[in-house]
Amino acid sequence: MSVEPGGRPVLTLPEVSTVTTLRQRNRALVLKHVILAQETTRAAIAKDSGLSTASAANLVADLLTAGLVEERGSVSSRGGRPITLIGPRAESAITIGADIGERGVAVEMFDLAMNRIDQEFRGGAKEEEPERIGADLQEALVALRDRNAGRWPTLLGIGLGLPGMVETDADGRQTLYAQSLGWPPVPVASLCDAGTIPVLAENGAKMQARAESWFGSARGADHAVIALLGRGVGLGIVTGGQLLYGAHSSAGEWGHMVIERGGRECRCGNRGCVEAYIGSDAMLAEWKAAGGVFEGTGWRAMGQLIGAAHEGDPAAARIVEEVVDCLGAALGGLVNLTNPERVVVGGWVGLRLMESLGERIAEAIRRHSLSRPGGQFTLRVATFGGASVTTGSALLPLEALIAADPMSEKALR
Ligand SMILES: [Zn+2]
Repeated sequence: MSVEPGGRPVLTLPEVSTVTTLRQRNRALVLKHVILAQETTRAAIAKDSGLSTASAANLVADLLTAGLVEERGSVSSRGGRPITLIGPRAESAITIGADIGERGVAVEMFDLAMNRIDQEFRGGAKEEEPERIGADLQEALVALRDRNAGRWPTLLGIGLGLPGMVETDADGRQTLYAQSLGWPPVPVASLCDAGTIPVLAENGAKMQARAESWFGSARGADHAVIALLGRGVGLGIVTGGQLLYGAHSSAGEWGHMVIERGGRECRCGNRGCVEAYIGSDAMLAEWKAAGGVFEGTGWRAMGQLIGAAHEGDPAAARIVEEVVDCLGAALGGLVNLTNPERVVVGGWVGLRLMESLGERIAEAIRRHSLSRPGGQFTLRVATFGGASVTTGSALLPLEALIAADPMSEKALR
């Protein structure tokens, strides 16, 4: 199956020109500011980008001509002269983000203002193989294309948030390494046949970190750790305003940091990993072994475990206490290592824990870190909830557009 057999809209991302002029770089800066701000003014753009008001006005004029931003009426200023508001022109482009989990595929479509305009889900309860996931993804993309045929030619690209490490070779080919799922290395190209539409993949937790950094709970923080707690456990580290990748992109593989030498068996084959203690399967298996009764293995079951702990069920209370302590130890080590100003907890398990245990988690992190860095962060729950990975994934094609200079290409037509 292919996204568009015959008559496929030709849509390529711009070649990143080797010589970017100062004007191009500044234009990219201005576009990013407008998308981040959603509604802003020429003066605010100038201030935020360190440009003169005249330069900012010229760059906004460029982006207005390109149809990427729009004027949105005006507000009165103190001097009495009305100030025109500038926002991204939502209908000028669409971008797609997919959250590829081990139990299914969520695909969401956004406009340039990052409004969600459509979505598709595939897959379900049973553990999936890469081939099945690729077929589900393809089906979801075809459904989105068929419902949005008119806007499809403005698609910037497809971002895939994947359940493992994603490496990119010198030729731009990407490969997924999902050791803890027992998958062989998976070429990203085998998951999705999008023709000429650019497909950009990255680890799902890094996608969440991107979404939270742009629009969510890590916004404005140059130093942050953003944890994704679900069945598996992932993390994005923002340092100096940049996501940390390491030499080949595995930086942030916190789920397999050993917190108990020779401890519980982990899916990755090692023992004592973070994931073997605070992954949902581990928590629910512990509760089951202690006589706990719950429905399914998801959101509801996790709520039942935490609810039982609050109601004084001794086994549930012990398990939740252990989870809080393990999470505190694992994040406390990161606080010492990275000195974040913000610690963000997300993923469906993280959201469940943060509903009622935020203070205890913050206290556990401080207990497991040095007192100086332990006193220098604030703990927040992720903003995007279940949509954080799709949102972050949809930002990848947008970032590519911004990085490539929005004026020098034909991506928008
Ligand atoms: Zn492991």
